[in-house]
Amino acid sequence: MSDPRLLVIPKRLMGVKHIIPVMSSKGGVGKTLISTVLSLISADNGYRTGLLDLDFTNPSTHIVLGIEPDKLEIIEEKGVIPPTVYGVKYMSIALYSGDNPLPLRGEAVSEAFREILAITRWGDLDYLFIDTPPGISDEHLELLTYLGDRIEALLVATPSPLSIKSVERLIELLVEGKYRINGLIENMSDTRKLVSVSKKYNIRYLGNIPYYHDLDNIIGNIEKIKNSDFWKTMVAISKNI
Ligand code: ADP
Repeated sequence: MSDPRLLVIPKRLMGVKHIIPVMSSKGGVGKTLISTVLSLISADNGYRTGLLDLDFTNPSTHIVLGIEPDKLEIIEEKGVIPPTVYGVKYMSIALYSGDNPLPLRGEAVSEAFREILAITRWGDLDYLFIDTPPGISDEHLELLTYLGDRIEALLVATPSPLSIKSVERLIELLVEGKYRINGLIENMSDTRKLVSVSKKYNIRYLGNIPYYHDLDNIIGNIEKIKNSDFWKTMVAISKNI
């Protein structure tokens, strides 16, 4: 018998206008930072915004936000109403696990995906940003099928030759599955090397973010994040999304 949660998931996301999974083919390219900061900018601009951390093995959006996830109040009422953090409706597996690592694999990951998507009541949102696990695994494909033709994938890559090949593979996979791609962000780069990749696949190049040496010092401090050059660059990029 099929899982009844799969019928519930589209209903939970019905009121969300734009579902934007932030994806990368490799870890450590800035996906977490970018998805979190984009959600803060979106909320600052008056949009009803959600942030969902689906990077189950290493949920870390709460670290960028500087919050202790297991201290947030979770209201359960015909599902779970996500707490609001800095104007953003926020949901993460870390709300349940705190900072303990979750060594989930295979079936357990897909169980966790289904569960969190099926229980969370987002209500009406303009934008839902999703921090996804890095890579191109079966779990990713499964996640995409749950969210279906609703998604507008936002791709993040760095300009290293190794990263370029793997982002190309990710793009090909999305194109093959007929998923929509919002565009490509080039991170930790002064150049616009990935313009050629975006041209090759006819996807939008949303902009490049330089490498900022002091970035790790502002993580967890919203005030400092909002006053940073990273924020300014992201504001400019967010206008293209
Ligand atoms: P991912 O989610 O793709 O694994 P993160 O967002 O966790 O990547 O970023 C990985 C590391 O790189 C973090 O320490 C982050 O502060 C740093 N980082 C991300 N983008 C930049 C940037 N533009 N300049 C400098 N450091 C960055």
